[in-house]
Amino acid sequence: MTLAERSDEPVAGQEPLPHWDTSGIYSGLEGDDYKAAFAHLEKSLGELEAFFDEHGIRRLSDPPAEGNSALAAAALEEALARVNEFAWLAGTLRSFVYAFVSTDSYNTVAAREQSKLEILGTRRQKLDVRLRGWIGSLAAELPGWIRERPALATHAFYLTDAARRSRYLMAEELEGLAAELVVDGGGAFGKLQGSVTSQLKVPFARGAGPAEMLPITVVRNLCFDADAALRERAYRAEVAGWESIRATVAACLNGVKGTAATLARRRGRASVLDAALDDNHIDRTTLEAMLGAIRESLPMFRRYLQAKAEKLGLGRLRWWDLFAPVGSAHKTFSWSQARNFIVEKFGTFSDDLGNFAAQAFDRRWIDAEPRDGKRGGAFCMSVPGVEQSRILANFDGSFDQVSTLAHELGHGYHNHCQTGLAPLVRGAPMTLAETASIFCETLAAEATLETATPAEQLTILETQLCGATQVCLDISSRFIFESAVFARRGASELSADEFCELMTAAQRETYADAIEPATYHPYMWLWKPHYYSYGQNFYNFPYAFGHLFGLGLLAIYRRQGKSFVPRYTELLRSTAQDYAAPLAARFDIDIRSPEFWRESLGIIEQQVERFERL
Ligand SMILES: [Zn+2]
Repeated sequence: MTLAERSDEPVAGQEPLPHWDTSGIYSGLEGDDYKAAFAHLEKSLGELEAFFDEHGIRRLSDPPAEGNSALAAAALEEALARVNEFAWLAGTLRSFVYAFVSTDSYNTVAAREQSKLEILGTRRQKLDVRLRGWIGSLAAELPGWIRERPALATHAFYLTDAARRSRYLMAEELEGLAAELVVDGGGAFGKLQGSVTSQLKVPFARGAGPAEMLPITVVRNLCFDADAALRERAYRAEVAGWESIRATVAACLNGVKGTAATLARRRGRASVLDAALDDNHIDRTTLEAMLGAIRESLPMFRRYLQAKAEKLGLGRLRWWDLFAPVGSAHKTFSWSQARNFIVEKFGTFSDDLGNFAAQAFDRRWIDAEPRDGKRGGAFCMSVPGVEQSRILANFDGSFDQVSTLAHELGHGYHNHCQTGLAPLVRGAPMTLAETASIFCETLAAEATLETATPAEQLTILETQLCGATQVCLDISSRFIFESAVFARRGASELSADEFCELMTAAQRETYADAIEPATYHPYMWLWKPHYYSYGQNFYNFPYAFGHLFGLGLLAIYRRQGKSFVPRYTELLRSTAQDYAAPLAARFDIDIRSPEFWRESLGIIEQQVERFERL
């Protein structure tokens, strides 16, 4: 098919953009079917709580006595069935309500229903902690039960993982105390960082006029501007702004990371990183293989930065040039062009993927029109009750948006591959959640490059490479920084100066001289929200893993062709059913070896070479 050339008229505006159809889920927020489902959910939660009390489902100090073992096994089977049934209905209602909340922030009925669901969610979370503790105290019995009972065998990974990880829980009273105290400790510091960094205003003059006080978020966004002098002034105003709150935010980082370090130690963890690896279902060998391959490839990323500098007419990039736009030729797509393009390109991979995308477009699973009251960005959510997904996007006809649609449809396809699975064996850890999305996004980008003019290719490659550089090179700097912080935090608190020194040292190790060293950004630790959740540490490597794992599968597909397709869909189906390395090994993929990661990075390298040539 042919793609529209750039024109002054927005092509997207020529066709009405769809709103998603929710009528197949429930008739509406005031509908009798919805109300009945909600009442059923409340009732079954009450019953679930009663069931837990009746069967003593909580962490036991002693495993069940011999004669009670069969009773406990039957209770476990029943508990899993009930938890699954509850999660199934809760997931369906949550997505249905969120379909209204996310597209119409003025809808007060939807907001009320969402809040009611959140309250039920908290009650259910408490049951989840009890269930996991109970499974932990049954650890010795589990292997036998799993062999004998098919309903437990299908939950084998969930059960063994819950049992293994319950070892890293403190005594029940201590966990209870910790849960209450972290609200005022690490949690409060995280909130403080969020509010002081988002409320900060800095003096800035956009043009020749006098300076006005602008939100720092607005000033930060000028890093995407085409005017280099404006970007530099914005960067300097931003850094001066962060300087004014550095002592406060340094205290926040000490509070958050101190809380995380204390909890890890008291839970018997050798390090905070070990807990983060467990949460992401990967082991240290895998992490080191990936980080090692990225480290080897840093010169390749620096080559891209150098090529970008040349295209901007610079000898070398300054920090404020990292996100500067390159090229001005943009491919545009109408809605039906975007649909046909994606369906066709996905179809070259497999009929199943192509048909899935066609269905999502044609049955109106996508909400595409940007409008007042609708949230920005894009996401995909599964609606388990009807085994479908819904995708939110804000379509403007740009290639960027086509790429986003391909990405979100990849998430939808991942859900589709898990059709029929129970909630406890569904989904994916953060490391594997982006597998299908990155795969599909790259598939679409490569197909677009085939028909693009050289000028358009430049813009597309710049978007891809700018993203990949953040996800690999910048993520490496964040990992180095956070490791250094934890190494020192045990001994004492760190000052704002020390945080800045560690940050610039990490940038020197990764960006090196591809960025003018005098312009390194010493306050990246201060504003990135990823550092400020005491429960989610090293919130950096999962991004690199997700991206490179998706690319790695694409590299294998290119090598093996169609024979890879069934293995790929089977892998997507199983992402919640094992740790990443043994899971990948089932499909002959060795993520513990740097070779796998080198192949992923090879795809980026081909893009760099193409970018350099243009
Ligand atoms: Zn995603």
